[in-house]
Amino acid sequence: MLKTYFIFTLGCQMNVSDSERIEAVLEKCGLNPGDEKSADLIIVNACSVRQKPIDRIWGKLRVWQKINPQAKRILTGCVLSNDLKKLTTKFDFCFKIEDLKDFSWWVKKSLDPTNLDKKKNYLELKPKRLDKKIAYIPIMTGCNNFCSYCVVPYTRGKEWSRDLRAIVEEVRCLVKKGHKEIMLLGQNVCSYSCQQTAASRQLKANGFVGLLNQLVKIPGDFKISFMSPHPKDFSDELIDLIAEEPKISKQIHLPLQSGDDKVLQKMNRHYTTKEFLKLVDKMRNAIFDLEISTDIIVGFSGESKKEFQNTVNLAKKCRFNKAYVSVYSPRSGTMADKKFRDDVSMAEKKRRWLVLDQLINRQN
Ligand code: SF4
Repeated sequence: MLKTYFIFTLGCQMNVSDSERIEAVLEKCGLNPGDEKSADLIIVNACSVRQKPIDRIWGKLRVWQKINPQAKRILTGCVLSNDLKKLTTKFDFCFKIEDLKDFSWWVKKSLDPTNLDKKKNYLELKPKRLDKKIAYIPIMTGCNNFCSYCVVPYTRGKEWSRDLRAIVEEVRCLVKKGHKEIMLLGQNVCSYSCQQTAASRQLKANGFVGLLNQLVKIPGDFKISFMSPHPKDFSDELIDLIAEEPKISKQIHLPLQSGDDKVLQKMNRHYTTKEFLKLVDKMRNAIFDLEISTDIIVGFSGESKKEFQNTVNLAKKCRFNKAYVSVYSPRSGTMADKKFRDDVSMAEKKRRWLVLDQLINRQN
């Protein structure tokens, strides 16, 4: 009989938010939180976007084998099928995060899985809020952009958005309960409501700006932030709303990835450096007290020293407040892995990482 659980989360805020839903389901099944040394059930909620989390799972498996070999192990999250194939024998059960509602059946056979409304998607399951300060609210998931280095379109599938009314209600309840920070999550929040179903036609007309307009009407003292937007979809309407609306945070995350046009094209990012800089300038001119953070990948396939220098130069012009710099590692199944060679040495990738980290993160 399973009594306690321990969740090991690796990935972005979306994974953190998914873990809050997993906790809620487990507690509905009568399990209590425990630690990794003694829990009856260990759940890994991970993401394959980078190789590092996958390496960490292998490391943790060795630890758990020593300290808690009796525990049942479960794997979920957005894990690539290639990684899944290798890991599956080390776990008792693996499930896709979208199938979270069915997972309760595995945990406790006595719980009737129909207790959880199967017609609703898993994002409608009420999470157990772990962060008392920030409330994470997924508004959409999946991605249709297929950046050449990224696994998200393969692990999370096509974009789909949650119902606008459900999001507004969730935020209203959280604000009533005293939450001061609401963070809207999605792989590409600016494409919110771009589904083509009849039911979403009304939502489609409103889009992300429409959703924000509804949320800022909720009475109370709170701030809304969001991540991540795609620069190609960041509209003037959105900039104006951020500028005018005190309830929307002025800290914006805007992923650059590279400051070189050739590299951006190989990454399939659908914007040029000129367009990116124009967007940043527009934002800086319109939004008082704006802070911009970004993501940059160094050492992408074929990135020459000159192309990297273009990224350094653009980063200087953009005056980012913070950068999440990552070293490129090819992910199996992605376009970049199939088409290009990973030909920048690790030593050079680390050097480039340091240059950008020093330039952006150490000077603020
Ligand atoms: S926009 Fe690109 S990087 Fe972001 S989730 Fe989609 S495919 Fe991945």
